[in-house]
Amino acid sequence: MSKRMIRIFDTTLRDGEQSPGASMNLSEKMEVAQALVELGVDVIEAGFPIASPGDFEAVREIATNVTGSVIAGLARCNDEDIDRAWEALKGAEAARIHVFLATSAIHREFKLKMDKDEIIQRAVNGVKRAAGYCSDIEFSPEDASRTELDFLCAVIEAAIDAGATTVNIPDTVGYATPAHMAKVIRTLCDRVPNIDKAVVSMHCHDDLGLAVANSLAGVEAGAGQIECTINGIGERAGNCSLEEVVMALRTRGDYYQADTRIKSQRLVPTSRLVSNITGLVVPRNKAVVGRNAFAHEAGIHQDGMLKEPTTYEIMRPVDVGFAKTDLVLGKHSGRAALGDRAKALGYSLTAEQLREVFDAFKVLADKKKEVYDDDIAALIDQQTRDDVAESWTMVSYEVAAASGKTPSVTLRMKHGQREVTETVASGDGPVDAMFLAIEKITGVPTVCKDFRVQAVTVGKDAQAEVNVELEYHGRVQRGRGVSTDSLEASALAFLNAINRITVYRDAPAQGVQATL
Ligand SMILES: [Zn+2]
Repeated sequence: MSKRMIRIFDTTLRDGEQSPGASMNLSEKMEVAQALVELGVDVIEAGFPIASPGDFEAVREIATNVTGSVIAGLARCNDEDIDRAWEALKGAEAARIHVFLATSAIHREFKLKMDKDEIIQRAVNGVKRAAGYCSDIEFSPEDASRTELDFLCAVIEAAIDAGATTVNIPDTVGYATPAHMAKVIRTLCDRVPNIDKAVVSMHCHDDLGLAVANSLAGVEAGAGQIECTINGIGERAGNCSLEEVVMALRTRGDYYQADTRIKSQRLVPTSRLVSNITGLVVPRNKAVVGRNAFAHEAGIHQDGMLKEPTTYEIMRPVDVGFAKTDLVLGKHSGRAALGDRAKALGYSLTAEQLREVFDAFKVLADKKKEVYDDDIAALIDQQTRDDVAESWTMVSYEVAAASGKTPSVTLRMKHGQREVTETVASGDGPVDAMFLAIEKITGVPTVCKDFRVQAVTVGKDAQAEVNVELEYHGRVQRGRGVSTDSLEASALAFLNAINRITVYRDAPAQGVQATL
């Protein structure tokens, strides 16, 4: 018997981006979209075009330039939303309009103030309008898991009749359990007479930690599409995690008799990319892509692993994209070796980028004897993601700090051709003094909301990675810096955030948000 192919609908760029602090700029969204194509996702939900001009622009750019996956845009069930979604999507090689409307009693009564018949009419009108633009239409009854089953069946039947080719069943508030979800899907498959004309889809939130389990239960009951995000990011506790649900289906293909088209070796590189861009760190013990996901500490396990890996390992690290060997590079390693390593880590660099990264690698290899995979990934991220134009850069600094004394920093920075030097003798310590000096030079006063330092690799000479979140006029920007010198890494992270603030401070605030 051949395995059923389950479609993977990735919503990292729409639902995932709604995680607090995870907003991405246009070039970051393009980068993630390209990585999702390489990962092999069937559908990329690129955004919610009516939400803001920025959202519209991102969906349009992705639809026009990214090929290889269907590009979806979200719309509420009204003409203006749907027209706007199509306007953004129309340049796509393959486009899907995704319309949604709440159906549960609580939403009908308190949010929409509409009765059941009005809901059905509105859903039908929305689907029909979208179907006038393209043939690939998804309909989502928001809060489906809390909707009365009889009514849910009626809405779904009407939506399919109107032209919906995918019907998505969102557990918007993360309320469902696996047995409950299976019952909902089974009921739809048994009772909706035209259900075979559409693909049933799962969209689960992780408020009870059940998003992956609920999605799998839905697949077992007949669903043919799963909506998910890289690293499970999303509002509140997040969405179903793509890497977990994909590897569950693949590892237990014997049971589900189902699989996906995902190229699993791309999971770790894609996870790393999304984590670096959003600043949402992947926990070490995260299933599939966490740093410890394949680490065996217990002696008895190690012994078994050496004799036969499958005694304790249900998946091979290499199958999800962890590099085969943690090959260490040093200062005598050449550009070709670095290029090979970058490729093994999932990066495709242009000759120009490789040259830049190699220059930075040589500087690092002089400071640090052994250069590990994570060092290389950090270098590449630093070198290739410097997309903030007109930025301030650091030229040099000098610090004087001693216990019981006020620290002093002399900082030299550059903006275009202009160089500015400031000395600040203030603050609680050298990091604080450094931040004050940067604020003084750039003229951007901020409130520091988060400051985290972590080692990129092992060893006392490891690089420090610093992540900061700075608030400026009520909006938060992230910044990241990496260096073997933790004070320099802090300064780079702070500067990165300030540069983002100066670039995006005139951008309009985030508009309408979808709760799906
Ligand atoms: Zn959602």
